[in-house]
Amino acid sequence: MTVEDIPKIVLHLHLDGSIDINDAFKWALEDGINYTKKDLLKELQVDENVKSLNDYLEKFNLSCKLLQTCRRLEQTSYNLFMKLAKLNVIYAEVRFAPNKHLDNNLNLDDVVISVINGFNKANLEMGIMGGIILCMMRGDTKEDNLNIINIAKKYLGKGVVGIDLAGAEAIYPTRDYASLFKYAKSEGIPYTIHAGEAASVDSINAALDVGTKRIGHGIRCIDDNATEKRIIDEEILLEVCVTSNYQTEAISGKHPIEKLYKDGVKINISTDNDTVSNIDINKEYEKILNETNLDINDLLECNIGSIPYIFANNEVKERLQRIYKEIRK
Ligand SMILES: [Zn+2]
Repeated sequence: MTVEDIPKIVLHLHLDGSIDINDAFKWALEDGINYTKKDLLKELQVDENVKSLNDYLEKFNLSCKLLQTCRRLEQTSYNLFMKLAKLNVIYAEVRFAPNKHLDNNLNLDDVVISVINGFNKANLEMGIMGGIILCMMRGDTKEDNLNIINIAKKYLGKGVVGIDLAGAEAIYPTRDYASLFKYAKSEGIPYTIHAGEAASVDSINAALDVGTKRIGHGIRCIDDNATEKRIIDEEILLEVCVTSNYQTEAISGKHPIEKLYKDGVKINISTDNDTVSNIDINKEYEKILNETNLDINDLLECNIGSIPYIFANNEVKERLQRIYKEIRK
């Protein structure tokens, strides 16, 4: 079996960080910004100068500026799901922060519907399953983030599958957002939380304290045995993005994915941002195979182990189980 042969489940992928480069070039021109391809890449992709999550997050500025129309949002969503399907991704949850796309008089319904439409088109054409996660942003007002929960509730089961909290973790502590997740929980909205990427285990424990079953990154749990044990005991899934973690300097030296997997932590392998990180899921799998002792069966098991954690109904989960049962035969 090769990396391409593995039917993959991708749970942590940002829409704006995965904008198609040719589209971005075309749309920048439409908006009167005449980039050379080289300059455009410099705006959209990290280079060796990136030193932190905050540097990394600057690479979203241009794509957010370009993604201010329904047409562009739908196209970006469609292109991304189509690309994933061609890489043999069978289920994907793509996330974005709707509040970042309201500069051009769009409202939350417009932006959410556009991104759902892009997914629906790709689903019809390629059969790729999944949906959209709406991100609340650290640093946004409570009211803005409450609006995200309420719009998620409105489109839950109609393309939206859950919510997230993203942004500058080292500046805005996870614990400050606890009441929002309590509210989301009371409304029956599934959630995942970025934690333990740019901040310490306190952030992970704050996320666990509000009952999350999934953590975006969470790799800093290697700093504290008790927190790693808590993740194992509470059967939490970490959405691990190796290339991104190197770039944001969330880790230095060897990436802990292999240790975590062997310790019994549930792991979903994702890429975070295909364009910003200049990666795709198959390249990410190859990288893990090259740099660790994990083998292709371990990568397959990470996918199978992700199924219980996807934000989907039992019918979808059973469908995925059947697909992997065939592969294992
Ligand atoms: Zn992320």
